[in-house]
Amino acid sequence: MTYDLVVVGGGVTGAGVARDAALRGLKVALAERGKPGQGTTAASTHLIHGGVRYLLYDRLTTHSSCWDAGHIVRTAGDLLTRLPILWPVYKGHTRGLETVETLFAQYDLFQPMKYGKPHLRLTAEAALKVVPGLSPEGLLGALVFDEWWVDAEALARRTLESARAAGVEVLLDSPVTAVLKDGARVAGVTAGGRELRGRITVNAAGPWIDKVTSLAGARMPLRLMKGTHLIYKDKALTPVGLLLEAEDRSRYVFVVPSPLGTWVGPTDLPGPSDPDQTRTTDDEVGYLSRSVKRYFRSWPINHDATIVGSRPILGQPGAEKLLSRDFEVFDHETRDGLPGFLTIGGGKMSDYRVMAEAAVDLACRKLGVSAECRTHLSTLDGRPVTDIPDFPTPTRRSSAFCGPSRCCASCTRCPTSARGWRSTCCAAPAASRPSATRPSSRAATVSRRRAPGTRARRAARA
Ligand SMILES: Cc1cc2nc3c(=O)[nH]c(=O)nc-3n(C[C@H](O)[C@H](O)[C@H](O)COP(=O)(O)OP(=O)(O)OC[C@H]3O[C@@H](n4cnc5c(N)ncnc54)[C@H](O)[C@@H]3O)c2cc1C
Repeated sequence: MTYDLVVVGGGVTGAGVARDAALRGLKVALAERGKPGQGTTAASTHLIHGGVRYLLYDRLTTHSSCWDAGHIVRTAGDLLTRLPILWPVYKGHTRGLETVETLFAQYDLFQPMKYGKPHLRLTAEAALKVVPGLSPEGLLGALVFDEWWVDAEALARRTLESARAAGVEVLLDSPVTAVLKDGARVAGVTAGGRELRGRITVNAAGPWIDKVTSLAGARMPLRLMKGTHLIYKDKALTPVGLLLEAEDRSRYVFVVPSPLGTWVGPTDLPGPSDPDQTRTTDDEVGYLSRSVKRYFRSWPINHDATIVGSRPILGQPGAEKLLSRDFEVFDHETRDGLPGFLTIGGGKMSDYRVMAEAAVDLACRKLGVSAECRTHLSTLDGRPVTDIPDFPTPTRRSSAFCGPSRCCASCTRCPTSARGWRSTCCAAPAASRPSATRPSSRAATVSRRRAPGTRARRAARA
């Protein structure tokens, strides 16, 4: 039997691709070398978030993640828990209260896309009431912002179950060891000793994409950044999440209370080119534990476990903390002369659905199939999603909207879309209203560069 699509990798990305393709009516098989979500997905911080810090240098990633996070809340809501995160600001911190609040005022514009609440500013006394264990010395106040915690492995597993229910053949414990070829054309893979023949093969192996591409005789420009978390068995070492300036004063670490324990991390360091060789070092453990302990009057001396993963970041020059979390769909036909072979790389768990959409859009064009993405229209357990707000997609300038939390919550005069979203605001002074007609050339360029689907089209044209 020949499948339309053979997917390599059962992390959240591969599971998303398989589900998307099956819901469009394609015949799909997926091979995962272990269990669903066991790779980077399991080692993530488990947040469905917009990445507030990306606002500083990569606004479109924030927009895209918040936009897709809204779809994840609607389709996988039972795996998500609302997680308020408190950012305490102390005397001597690199970013003061005003700077942090300016950032969150911008973030508030995106929050409604993912059902997030606007930020709060707390006095030092109020912050200590919320997190009584925090050290009071030098505490100036805090900002609180709203994110979602997700059971990440369950997200991959349930997405895969949904894919299976839509007809996907799922092979677990089945490592892909060879890429099949008909002449130059990639014609599927050998997985767990079985041949899976496919008209299109999609490599969604996360940080292993270069290894899989190598089986076909091509290479991927991948820069692997390793990230470690410390895990404490106590599930509630803090009552809310925390974002703490780390000891090097240039990075931040999360403290995340969750059903899996309290997680502290991650680090973000250049890792080995082979993801299987990624290990936590004593330096990382010391850095994380010192970074958290200095904020608490009492904190457990020892952590109970560590977990490490590799961020599959597409090769880019620049400082580690400025690396984009952008994703790309690579067409190996135009790139490497290997028809029938696509790779999806980069990105975040928070936009896994839109990543899958871009990959399957390109696969469908190559197969000559015209079928629209349907992954946002039903929950992972198959119930219809009906109430989808009409937010601007990340293909538009991110400034071309204003959030109800800013100005339109109770306004009845502004133009309102069919789903209740107001795109202009009569309450704001004319000069500060979002302008849809005068885009700055930079914003327009970035939008075009980042648009899901557009990337895939560019890849197809390249
Ligand atoms: C420390 C850290 C923290 C992060 N925190 C967040 C966060 O809070 N929120 C967020 O949105 N994103 C976060 N990310 C990013 C996010 O985790 C990743 O973008 C996402 O999980 C990648 O999923 P994936 O499916 O592409 O890769 P993976 O989850 O790694 O899946 C790839 C799969 O391919 C399989 N595979 C590999 N080789 C083969 C083979 N030869 N044959 C068959 N199968 C194979 C692997 O077993 C694996 O299961 C974080 C990343 C890191 C490293």
